[in-house]
Amino acid sequence: MSSSGWEAGRLSWESRASALEKLGSETMDLLVVGGGIVGAGIAALAAARGLKVGLVERNDLASGTSSRSSKLVHGGLRYLRMADFGLVREALLERSANLALAPHLVRPQPFLYPLRHRFWERAWVGAGVGLYDLLALGSVGRGLPRHRHLGRRRALEAAPALRVDQVVGAVEYWDAQTDDARLVIALARTAAGLGAEVATGTSFVGVLSSGDRIEGAILSTEEGASLEARARVVVLAAGPWTAEALAAAKAEGALSVVPSKGVHVVVPRDKINSSHALIFDTGRSVFLVLPWGRHWILGTTDTAWPYRPDELVATRADLEYLLGQANQFLSSPLSDADVESFYVGLRPLVAWRSADTAKVSREHATGRPRPGLVVISGGKLTTWRKMAEDVLRTAEVDLGGLPPPRPLRIVGGEGFEEARKDLARQARDAGCSEAEAKRLLGRYGSEWRKIASLCQARPELARPVVPGLELTGAEASFAFSHEGARHLDDALDRRLGLGLERQHVRLAAARAVVELVAPELGWDSARQASELQRYRQLAEDAERFVACPDDASARSLREARASGRS
Ligand code: FAD
Repeated sequence: MSSSGWEAGRLSWESRASALEKLGSETMDLLVVGGGIVGAGIAALAAARGLKVGLVERNDLASGTSSRSSKLVHGGLRYLRMADFGLVREALLERSANLALAPHLVRPQPFLYPLRHRFWERAWVGAGVGLYDLLALGSVGRGLPRHRHLGRRRALEAAPALRVDQVVGAVEYWDAQTDDARLVIALARTAAGLGAEVATGTSFVGVLSSGDRIEGAILSTEEGASLEARARVVVLAAGPWTAEALAAAKAEGALSVVPSKGVHVVVPRDKINSSHALIFDTGRSVFLVLPWGRHWILGTTDTAWPYRPDELVATRADLEYLLGQANQFLSSPLSDADVESFYVGLRPLVAWRSADTAKVSREHATGRPRPGLVVISGGKLTTWRKMAEDVLRTAEVDLGGLPPPRPLRIVGGEGFEEARKDLARQARDAGCSEAEAKRLLGRYGSEWRKIASLCQARPELARPVVPGLELTGAEASFAFSHEGARHLDDALDRRLGLGLERQHVRLAAARAVVELVAPELGWDSARQASELQRYRQLAEDAERFVACPDDASARSLREARASGRS
């Protein structure tokens, strides 16, 4: 049990109400602003040290960049070209730490780097990938398999989708993939299990101060309440919103972030025949083709975004670029009709070297612009632990020392190996097929039995919410009762993996889930209708903007809609 009296690691309506009450009445050691991977990671590591922690997020956990990444836990092969060896080494060590900490959410993934030029390219790519393997030496655990060279025939056997005239061979190497949003949610639940007070739908709007020293934050809830939260240190982990958060803390300019827009498109799995993920050098950056359940994710773009982070949209130009890149090397070209969905995120890059966002380093930076205020930005999903540790070290002076670190055990990761080894027997006990148990283990880790028990206790929850999808009612219910979902999009898009499906599938699932959870959550018919309307609106807006030719026209449309002119 956590200190707040709630079941360990459980986020719910009740835990949020309790967190808001505690934030308004007790003094936290650390109040973290931003529920992305960085904020959730800081909260988990700080709580593991025994600090009294609050975590506030204005929307939902992982609703910012941390659910819109390429979903790789990696060193970043392309950063080798920038000679960022230290960064790559650090990220590779973090890759193995993530594989060990959250084996249900972070998994090894083989990649193929197809070669197009007969002689020099094999030597160049082979040397790069060899160095990549070398830099990973000393990782915890067993590590990932080493790279190998494939001739033309073996490369085409592994990826028959590749254009025969474009491939002379390939290099196979390994990295790791993760469910980015679920990783964030697992970290926030871990923090809550260790006593952290987690409140989503809660914005940081200003600071409490005495002279130059920050003594807490002014928070505003989605319901319109305002509260004063006392803390010895306020940490801004607001990703692309860092400039706005710094302005609210009256510490403008303490850290400068260049936002870089990245779009991915999603196509059906049967459109690309390959047993491996694929990586291509575009000259300026890399292009990735990543397997994801019933889909492939293709990405990404990397362009400057000079507007406000909240105005972010994907456009026709982004989709054309992505399909164009893919079609250079696929034997069966993709068309618009193959695009099931798309998503867009902003990289919160720290501005310290180049104006070209593809060349800006993915290093992170921390600052302490005022006593009692720490800010962090930059970095990658992969390096959340390192970023969290740096924040704690920066906060040490205001905390008057740090309690010693304790090993972190992430919800679902703890006990995973035992559950995996004994899965067939446990599946029989739980009354489900081994295949279903395996699917649940991959999403919930050692907690999978909680879902299976729910299905046993309430057979109506064991059925798929929509025919053709594997997702059961029990998982939808769990998203609200344990994983902190408050709205339909929180549950469907960030906890249940439906965000990548075609719009009609998402809307059908939304209708089914509302009906299912409304009695448990006490949603009356007006609330059900408003949740459905909110979900439909989000999907329709994204479709409307993506029909615009470019960023400027999409932004004009957004402004026109906001002012009621369209
Ligand atoms: P965010 O996830 O954006 O979190 C910040 C949070 O702060 C948001 O949820 C926001 O709502 C909240 N917030 C802001 N202001 C306030 C306020 N005033 N009050 C309360 N809350 C507030 N990294 C990898 O390691 N691997 C990859 O494959 C990878 N691919 C990427 C692909 C793309 C296209 C992009 C854009 C990034 C990718 N990254 C990848 C980088 C990685 O996703 C980001 O570095 C990381 O997710 C940033 O996390 P964050 O917590 O800093 O920001």
